[in-house]
Amino acid sequence: MIDPSDSEVRAGALYVVATPIGNLGDLAPRAQAVLASVDRIAAEDTRSSGVLLSHFGIRTPLVALHEHNEDRVAEALIQAVRDGSSLALISDAGTPLISDPGYALVRAARAAGVPVYALPGPCAAIAALSVSGLATDSFMFAGFLPAKSAARRAKLATLANEPRTAILYESAHRIGESLADLVAVLGGARRVCLARELSKRFEESITLPAAELLAWQQADGNRSRGEFVLVVEGAPAAEDSVDAERVLRLLLAELPASRAARLTAEITGCARKPLYALALKLSDAGVQGAPENGDNSAST
Ligand code: SAM
Repeated sequence: MIDPSDSEVRAGALYVVATPIGNLGDLAPRAQAVLASVDRIAAEDTRSSGVLLSHFGIRTPLVALHEHNEDRVAEALIQAVRDGSSLALISDAGTPLISDPGYALVRAARAAGVPVYALPGPCAAIAALSVSGLATDSFMFAGFLPAKSAARRAKLATLANEPRTAILYESAHRIGESLADLVAVLGGARRVCLARELSKRFEESITLPAAELLAWQQADGNRSRGEFVLVVEGAPAAEDSVDAERVLRLLLAELPASRAARLTAEITGCARKPLYALALKLSDAGVQGAPENGDNSAST
């Protein structure tokens, strides 16, 4: 640990600064000192960052850096830093670059040999993970789910066999649909943490099997308000998957692929869709399955 007063800003450097995700008290003293001392601050939305900064009496000039101008503006900003100025990067909330702009700027800084310093702080993904009660030894961040259901289900299907805990961001107007799709694709047994309004007045977080979580979320309209993180338990360990495959193989000897997959899903709690895909693969490889009689519901 170093002395917290050591927050002197270096010329010719870029500072990536995390800002609060809901509680102004979470802007660290060192972040305040750096934001007050740099020559310029690149911000996703200069108006909302202006409100944050003026709350702390910070009057550093702001320059807009958002997804629509980032590629163009990044080079010019980094050139100024190379010429000796100091620059901080913030986003509307939380850690820049985490589902937020900044990648082009940091990439350009690295390419130009400009030193990049982290001022760590709030990040909704990590905050939700830390309170979820789900495994934290190995996790992945999957960002936002797509807005359209078909694309959303396809992305959720990539988690069917993902052994790591997965973290997803979601907005208020899609949380219900996304949870319903999650149950449809991953099954109702997978534990999921819903974390809402972290660090804000109506903060709540709850971890339940997905089907129960969907019912809980739908039971109260307030549970569709605010900002959300979903933390999804990893797929069952390999030995459980072997069990599911064993059940599937046994059923496949007697039943068509779709019915074998559906029953295996019911017996094991594993998702039906990947089981159906596996059933088709096994059938192709010669594992016996009774002929389909037009029933292909497991593929939907
Ligand atoms: N860069 C931010 C971070 O470090 O978390 C994330 C920015 S992303 C554009 C905004 C999304 O983050 C929201 O839609 C929500 O999914 C999540 N989020 C941000 N603040 C949150 C909060 N206080 N509680 C729950 N989720 C939050």
